[in-house]
Amino acid sequence: MLRDQLNRPLLDLRISVTDRCNFRCVYCMPEIEGKEYCFLKREQLMTFEEIYRLANIFVGLGVRKIRLTGGEPLLRKEIDVLAGMLANIEGLQDISLTTNGFLLKKYAGKLKKAGVNRINVSLDALNDEVFAKLNGNKAKSAVILEGIEEAVSNGLTVKVNMVVKKGWNDQEILPMARFFKEKGIILRFIEYMDVGTLNGWKMDEVVTSKEIHDFINKEMPLEPLEANYLGEVAKRYRYVDSKVEIGFISSVSQAFCSDCTRIRLSADGKIFTCLFASNGVDILSVMRNGANDEELKSIIESIWSNRRDHYSEERGKAVSAKKRIEMSYIGG
Ligand code: SAM
Ligand code: SF4
Ligand code: SF4
Repeated sequence: MLRDQLNRPLLDLRISVTDRCNFRCVYCMPEIEGKEYCFLKREQLMTFEEIYRLANIFVGLGVRKIRLTGGEPLLRKEIDVLAGMLANIEGLQDISLTTNGFLLKKYAGKLKKAGVNRINVSLDALNDEVFAKLNGNKAKSAVILEGIEEAVSNGLTVKVNMVVKKGWNDQEILPMARFFKEKGIILRFIEYMDVGTLNGWKMDEVVTSKEIHDFINKEMPLEPLEANYLGEVAKRYRYVDSKVEIGFISSVSQAFCSDCTRIRLSADGKIFTCLFASNGVDILSVMRNGANDEELKSIIESIWSNRRDHYSEERGKAVSAKKRIEMSYIGG
């Protein structure tokens, strides 16, 4: 099995299928006066065939799970066709997708049919005023909830992800926990991260997993659960009076780099070995210049075997001042 310099295997591939998004979340791609986002051109994007070819090579190197992300992956035309192509790769155990849910109602059935097993839906508030402030005034929560319902009724496993930003949506923690407990859907709290530069991240805007846990635990007591598998990023809990789970992704307060088995492919075909990497390797250009599968494979092997990334464990040290790629581009 391919291992990096810190002995971590390569198991997960996140593919960003577009850098565009229909939301402007304050912590990711904020609306900034006078700033126009400059997106990749169509010809810069990997085609489905190119994604499929690279994904096959990754699976040959040990990848077992693929997550489609972005930007907003449901903005990529016929994303279900891509999912269907990937689902046919022998050796791949799981295909999932992370979405803001705005177009999920339309796509849930198609994705399920194509072979997607799991969907993570990002939703930061139920209250529309709070939600609109966070997403750049692009959507109401009811639309996302309808998408979630549609996904569940099509047999997709749904988890909801909530990023908490202090002073913005902390008052929504309990309403969200109560609501999804009632629905029997796993809600996971994600600590607000310093990814990219546009969000103007400050440590004092982070609400830690422990704070959120303690807050919920007072009203609805929680008990810890064992991890499902080695390297699971969310710490799992269960409400004591029900079977429903809840999770905490503590990228800031309790880094999990030592178990990080993820590699990322940006929409224009660059390989990144960490969410906080400054540079990627342009594998798409190598491919378009005629490299064969063996050559591509050995490039990826060499990238992973030389990998040393552990940014979250070093946060705050001088290294964190490096240039950072935006999450909407690198693929969250
Ligand atoms: N557009 C899709 C969505 O929002 O689900 C997929 C891409 S988005 C970049 C993937 C995930 O990253 C989302 O759950 C989002 O909430 C999360 N995210 C974005 N910026 C973040 C930040 N600064 N800190 C923590 N999570 C962040
Ligand atoms: Fe778009 Fe997702 Fe980023 Fe929000 S978090 S701006 S929905 S890519
Ligand atoms: Fe993985 Fe980099 Fe995040 Fe650490 S900081 S968990 S190495 S992506």
